[in-house]
Amino acid sequence: GGTIGMLGGGQLGRMMAVAAAQLGYRCIGYAPQGEAVAEQLCDGFFTNAWDDHAALAEFAAQCDVVTWEFENVPVATAQAIPADRVFPHPRALETAQDRLTEKRFIEDLGGRPAAYARVDSAAELAAAVDRLGAPGILKTRRDGYDGKGQWRIMSARDADALRLPDVPLIYEGFVEFEAEFSVILVRGRDGEMRVWDSPRNTHAEGILATSALPAGSVIEAQVAEARRLAEKVASALDYVGVLTLEFFATREGPIFNEMAPRVHNSGHWTIEGAATSQFENHIRAVAGLPLGDTHTVASKVVMTNIVGDDILGAQQCLSLPDTHLHDYGKAEVREGRKMGHVTQLER
Ligand code: ATP
Ligand code: MG
Ligand code: MG
Repeated sequence: GGTIGMLGGGQLGRMMAVAAAQLGYRCIGYAPQGEAVAEQLCDGFFTNAWDDHAALAEFAAQCDVVTWEFENVPVATAQAIPADRVFPHPRALETAQDRLTEKRFIEDLGGRPAAYARVDSAAELAAAVDRLGAPGILKTRRDGYDGKGQWRIMSARDADALRLPDVPLIYEGFVEFEAEFSVILVRGRDGEMRVWDSPRNTHAEGILATSALPAGSVIEAQVAEARRLAEKVASALDYVGVLTLEFFATREGPIFNEMAPRVHNSGHWTIEGAATSQFENHIRAVAGLPLGDTHTVASKVVMTNIVGDDILGAQQCLSLPDTHLHDYGKAEVREGRKMGHVTQLER
């Protein structure tokens, strides 16, 4: 055993804490604001600002290793933890927090993102739409999640009418994809890598709706290439822990969408659907333990997110065979908020 420090306090941290407890570790959390649903499962919790270096030092002193469950932990916060104690390396945060940096990094490794252009003004947006065409999607370079900070641009007229927010932006050509999938990988401290089967992901209003296996032949034909890219990313970052890359399956092969330097919503099915879950393997990796077997243990798996007030009747699903409810225990139900998920298996 030992003590694992966790930056962030959301549902990913909550599920990580369950896995850590099973392996005999205590968890101590650190996140600035209240309603941290991981807190109830932690042995201690620091509710301090990300830049409170005195609190960070006190937190780090209590932990054998520190990791994160939230991809927007400031890089300086992760760097404030002694370097031999924080996994993955903070450079993973730095790479993934800015969509422009991330896409350039992926291109340097031979990956293919959607066509993109940096946008810092209305004139640059007009030029981007002119060069890349419409439809496209304008995104904030930082801080977006669940489709927040994104605007669909259907025409140059649309672009002209938009009042740009005063933050760095990126315009992406719209990818005519056949399906979406993710590569979920774990890399140990010794560099060993394992991957789970890649699920087919569907989204509703920018939010992940379902992740399902088998993913189907279109995706299965593209997984090998996508995995090679994910493995290059993990090696280049000397990554330790679970890393996720999202892809569009297109007629031209896999197009990189974005990466998450952490456990991922499209990997929640692994709790019941794989020999070792993403959460357990993340803990194993950061704690320096041997990695667990990642194979899928069912012939069919469907993970469905529960968003907003759908959580209210969710327990009804428990009468279905081999169906597993995860309620994140969020006190406040809000529209568009991830409240829990259900995983259904066919063995
Ligand atoms: P997450 O919650 O996964 O971090 P996010 O807010 O970072 O989401 P993206 O992954 O960039 O958002 O986009 C959300 C979804 O919107 C994608 O999974 C895809 O369905 C659609 N989308 C985003 N960019 C494009 C694109 N360039 N072409 C086509 N569809 C896109
Ligand atoms: Mg994202
Ligand atoms: Mg995404």
